[in-house]
Amino acid sequence: MQKITAQQIRSSFINASRSEAAKLTLPKSFDTLDWETMDFLAWRDAKMPLRGYLVVQGPKGPTGIMLRAPEGGAKKNRSVLCELCRDVFSKDDVLLWVAKRAGQSGRNGNTLGTLICADFLCCRNVRVEPPANEINPDPAAVVLRQIDGLVARTAQFVDRVQGS
Ligand SMILES: [Zn+2]
Repeated sequence: MQKITAQQIRSSFINASRSEAAKLTLPKSFDTLDWETMDFLAWRDAKMPLRGYLVVQGPKGPTGIMLRAPEGGAKKNRSVLCELCRDVFSKDDVLLWVAKRAGQSGRNGNTLGTLICADFLCCRNVRVEPPANEINPDPAAVVLRQIDGLVARTAQFVDRVQGS
């Protein structure tokens, strides 16, 4: 994705108040992120670990979504897939992240829950080449398909939060 600034991030949120956006903690490695290998920027708030943020670069500029993780973390048995990367190899936890819907709907208390990798490593996950075999003779092509899938499903998720 294209690099975005801290200011752009803070003004990108469709389901957070200005004060919530002002209080967020940027990712620790923000100045050294490898934007080339990212389809979106997503991270957990280091000071408020139950809070996460996901920012995509859309046609109208960056769109950010604030997310809340469940108290108590993930269930131990990793039987669910992340709905964004759908990575089957990752051993990382997947959490039911909840987003307040944008606009009036969100102010009325409506939310949307989605299973996403606990630490939002989806962009890394989809870039891991699967072992070549008869089903996947071309691992690099598989990676490209995985990236396309991640981008499409993330855009759909953002649209659903936005209510469009
Ligand atoms: Zn994921």
